[in-house]
Amino acid sequence: MSKCELPPTAGLPLLFKDLLSGRAGDFSQQLAAFLDVPEVGVECSGTASLIVILETLRRRSGRTRVVVPAYTCPLVVFAVAHCGLEVQVCDVRLRSFELDPGTLAKLCDEGTLAIIPTHLGGRVADLDPVVRVARHCGAYVIEDAAQALGARRQGKSLGLVGDAGFFSLAAGKGLTLFEGGLWLAADAGLRAELKNTSQEIVPRKLGWEALRCLELLGYALAYRPHGLPYVYGRALRRALRQNDPVAAVGDYFSPDIPVHRVSPWRQAVGCRALLRLPAFQRELAGRAAQRLPRLAGIPGVEVLSDPPGVSGTWPVFVVLLPSEAIRDRVLGELWGAGVGVARMFAFALPDYAYLQPWVGHGVAPNAREFAACSLTITNSPWLDDAQFDQILGVLSRHCC
Ligand SMILES: *Cc1c(COP(=O)(O)O)cnc(C)c1O
Repeated sequence: MSKCELPPTAGLPLLFKDLLSGRAGDFSQQLAAFLDVPEVGVECSGTASLIVILETLRRRSGRTRVVVPAYTCPLVVFAVAHCGLEVQVCDVRLRSFELDPGTLAKLCDEGTLAIIPTHLGGRVADLDPVVRVARHCGAYVIEDAAQALGARRQGKSLGLVGDAGFFSLAAGKGLTLFEGGLWLAADAGLRAELKNTSQEIVPRKLGWEALRCLELLGYALAYRPHGLPYVYGRALRRALRQNDPVAAVGDYFSPDIPVHRVSPWRQAVGCRALLRLPAFQRELAGRAAQRLPRLAGIPGVEVLSDPPGVSGTWPVFVVLLPSEAIRDRVLGELWGAGVGVARMFAFALPDYAYLQPWVGHGVAPNAREFAACSLTITNSPWLDDAQFDQILGVLSRHCC
């Protein structure tokens, strides 16, 4: 076993002083200031934030169907189910994580409550076609920006083009409370309703919150190259030996989504860490600007990047390879090697056996291809030039 292990995404490490109690200010206000929006709501996860949004929209309308991209986090399915709503899976565009507008238009009708486009891995989806379809059928748009806190389009935070949006503060998604999330909305009336829903449906649960406090302490201690073999690498290599990509990615989720309030202490930790986030994200963007052209320069390697007017965040590089066979050969060498190479989600949603009761056996060939041909490379500050060159070497060898 290697002594060091790099995380699959560039999370913001915590410092000892982040954990000390004391005045830190109001976390939701500081997040709102960071995003340059009037107000956000802090919840116990990205999924819980989505539940608050869905529950609010459900109360506004008799509609019951929610459209989600066929390549996204399985927790999105469970958030929809939690609210008693029906999931409808929509395929993505070819070699993309973005909803296919043609397929989307055919799925949506007067029963569609909401459409949930994803901004994946810090990349920003083009929402114009999604908003057009939504306006046509009277559905809401909820931006899943779980992986893109701090990404901007035309200088503005994500979550404002759609009716509402949410970010995740889970471990590995950048700024973290170990588990946490936040919602936002452009319209002040909807924000007031979201706040009401949250106050109504989110209880205090001491057991869950105590567990999260311990887990956050564990993250602060172990989120470093010498700690990660114990909290991440060992379980990863066991899953790989057992040929279980769902476990290797960390994609086994329970449909019982915990919903509870976040304690002042965890919010204070978030406040202190948030002070370092802008500089950390600038550092990640700078390194991405240097490394992305080298990756994309390898024939056969495609790397997702930003169109003009968009400045995403760079926790990972999302890489597309020419075929599943090539992708698997590259992962065969690098996934268990401790250099931060992994897969985003194990499968397209209809291909998770445990999601069958909620998503059925729909076909989503583009999402299936995206899942089969993609991999992620960490943009962690701990990935040094020699390790990055090693990854480039493996990619060149298998792609040519
Ligand atoms: C992680 C994630 C979620 C859920 O966020 P949690 O904070 O883990 O509940 C939703 N959507 C996407 C795309 C994610 O990556």
